[in-house]
Amino acid sequence: ISSLEQIPRAAPDRILGLTEQFARDTRRQKVNLTVGVYKDGWGQVTTFPSVARAQKLIDSDFELNTDLSYLPITGCPEYSSAVLSFLFGESCPQVGPRLLEEGRVSFAQTLSGTGALAVASKLLALFLSRTVWISEPSWPNHQNIFRSNGFTDLRTYPYYQNGRLVVDEWLEKLKTEVRKDPETRHSIILHACCHNPTGLDPTREEWVRILDTVHELGMIPILDMAYQGLESGNPPADAYVLRMALDEKRYKCWPNGLFVCQSFAKNMGLYGERVGSLSVVTPPAKPHVREHVDSQLKQIVRSIYSSPPGYGSRVATMVLSKSFLRMQWYKDVAFMTERLSQVRHNMHNLLKWPGLMNFQQQHGMFYYTGLSPKQVDVLRDKYSIYMTMDGRLSLSGVNDHNIDYVCEALDAVSK
Ligand code: PLP
Repeated sequence: ISSLEQIPRAAPDRILGLTEQFARDTRRQKVNLTVGVYKDGWGQVTTFPSVARAQKLIDSDFELNTDLSYLPITGCPEYSSAVLSFLFGESCPQVGPRLLEEGRVSFAQTLSGTGALAVASKLLALFLSRTVWISEPSWPNHQNIFRSNGFTDLRTYPYYQNGRLVVDEWLEKLKTEVRKDPETRHSIILHACCHNPTGLDPTREEWVRILDTVHELGMIPILDMAYQGLESGNPPADAYVLRMALDEKRYKCWPNGLFVCQSFAKNMGLYGERVGSLSVVTPPAKPHVREHVDSQLKQIVRSIYSSPPGYGSRVATMVLSKSFLRMQWYKDVAFMTERLSQVRHNMHNLLKWPGLMNFQQQHGMFYYTGLSPKQVDVLRDKYSIYMTMDGRLSLSGVNDHNIDYVCEALDAVSK
């Protein structure tokens, strides 16, 4: 008997497992509303015009096009400077450039947002914290990533109940539990905008209270910026939580670091290319801290995948660093966001069922319907409409050809 037999079957991924099931479904009317991939009005996954032009420029550049050698462990220097100047220059013009000048930001090109979270959680678990607070509900992979990388204590804070955010309950719980446990260093994942799955984010006033509490309790904030640009249509504008956290008049610094996990999957459509970054903002006047963090990030990356892939980061670098492409990119993000909000609006007009109070206030790629797992099952089994079990549907899978069918089915199951 093989010892391999001791390996238990792992639960299928809650989102990608459904995509596999969708692929096997032979019914003609099937609609896939599971994964957060943007599709245009014809149901096609598109390449953004800015990205397509960047690809052409790369294609026509012999050196860029033929260089298949390894990138440095924490990424290509051109990518690092382009992303840092996007995140800390353009997105945070008040404080960011000085942080860069002072050399306070440790940076690694990562395998998209998931890779950024994985490297961040590994670093945290090795040296700083094994307790993380995650919103309830949240993107299911948060738990998976933090557990896999050494976190032993995963806790949840209440975020959403009965159609509204519960910021008071959230902060009360943090204050009570973290104060009870002062020996432990607590981390917290904050969705920087377009909260997944609810699509609802705290107001600016609520964010002040949230950041105040996180700061006062000495927690380590991990900003998950997977959807920068999909709230307002303007990527720099959507970095408002990062700007608020870096407001030095309010928070002199984050003594245990501020972690920013960022991705170009959704906002540049570079999903499969795995292009993202981790930035760790370190406290002032301690250059050795940044250097040590840099060295540990290198060690972590080296031990897992050695160095990141090249092509997608070359595309992102090109888009970010040529001003005509960056302007086109902003237009592309605005166009995508406009279509998503148009679909949201059209569905709102077609749906007859109650319980949609916050639908119009939600933003981003998803519509959080509040349907129960049973209703989601009926949608899938009877209507071939696939959405995640938490009742989240990906808006871009809805288009002129299927919107009536989807809305009629939603109406039918919610009766
Ligand atoms: N964080 C959240 C909240 C997400 O929804 C996602 C993607 O769905 C990610 C991070 C990471 O995505 P990726 O690894 O494709 O950048």
